[in-house]
Amino acid sequence: MQPTAENVIPATLIPGDGIGPEIVESVVKVLEAAGASFAWEVHKAGMAGVDEFDDPLPQPTLDSIRRTRLALKGPLTTPVGGGYRSSNVRLREAFNLYANIRPARTLIPGGRYENIDVVLVRENTEGLYVGFEHYIPIGDDPHAVAIGSGVNTRAGCRRIAEYAFEYAATNGRKKVTVVHKANILKALTGLFLETARQVSKRYEGRVQLDERIVDACAMQLVLDPWQFDVILTTNLFGDILSDEMAGLVGGLGMAPAANIGVDAAIFEAVHGSAPDLAGQGVANPLALLLASAMMLDHVGRQDLARRMRNAIDRTLNEDKVRTRDLGGTASTGQFAQAVIRRLNQTGN
Ligand code: NAD
Repeated sequence: MQPTAENVIPATLIPGDGIGPEIVESVVKVLEAAGASFAWEVHKAGMAGVDEFDDPLPQPTLDSIRRTRLALKGPLTTPVGGGYRSSNVRLREAFNLYANIRPARTLIPGGRYENIDVVLVRENTEGLYVGFEHYIPIGDDPHAVAIGSGVNTRAGCRRIAEYAFEYAATNGRKKVTVVHKANILKALTGLFLETARQVSKRYEGRVQLDERIVDACAMQLVLDPWQFDVILTTNLFGDILSDEMAGLVGGLGMAPAANIGVDAAIFEAVHGSAPDLAGQGVANPLALLLASAMMLDHVGRQDLARRMRNAIDRTLNEDKVRTRDLGGTASTGQFAQAVIRRLNQTGN
């Protein structure tokens, strides 16, 4: 389909921090070559937002996402320990992005694990990420005691469980493994498990319910990842396990994420702003490329998403063009150009 005024899709583009602008530039070029017709509204967040607006989540960025309800986002730097609250977490709250979808799929055969195909569905707005934390000073130590509370709600647990089971049912998946720590955090993650069990009843005979304590799940992902199909878990456990799953398929450079919500959908890489690589043009743009393919699926352009994934597969496995993190020598731009060459070939 040729881009026309009718099928151009307005979307917010956040280049982000560190390696963000480099990989976003490459991804936008590949999307264009694939025939995607997004009308980008470019906006800042993270450190780039602080530098220009003194705000890590400036109002014009929020206004743009409110309008477009769709965004592609580069990684945003968050100070560790003190400093401002994560803009990623604030974005999830602002737009009710309750479902974080993180697929891990083998793209390059011959790695440590073959044929991995697991999708993690992470609750994205509750749990220990609500940031209810404080210190209690004792004597001259202002940080003598640290207290943090998590919040899970029945409604929040229900909607993410429904999302995971529905995702499994409509994507030909057979099993949802609920990952929890209900033996210790009996209320906080017990509610999550209890609600997932309730929701699973509606899918009996279609999608199997499986349950795992998080520590056991972490080990089993290393020993036998093929037993997992869809993993449904809480915010913090999902954050940790999805990085582990990225490790199964070659690292963070391969791991895309979708944040789906009531008011918008934001697509990003699982990885961060990689300050150690920023400005060198060597970062792997693949994770954000795969996230942009998820964005194409989301807007109903599965045809273009398929084209793009096919071109990526041929670039990696037939042309053997790979970035440094995957053992290759290509720069960010060279990898993107190689994918574009494949897209421009007929039959792709
Ligand atoms: P990171 O993901 O930025 O980097 C971890 C390691 O992976 C580094 O060695 C890095 O070089 C490598 N790496 C990451 N992305 C890569 C890529 N595309 N290609 C090749 N190698 C890649 O994690 P970090 O160092 O813990 O965090 C840096 C900053 O990013 C922090 O401020 C953190 O808060 C932020 N962060 C943001 C997001 C997000 O915006 N969604 C996610 C995670 C971390």
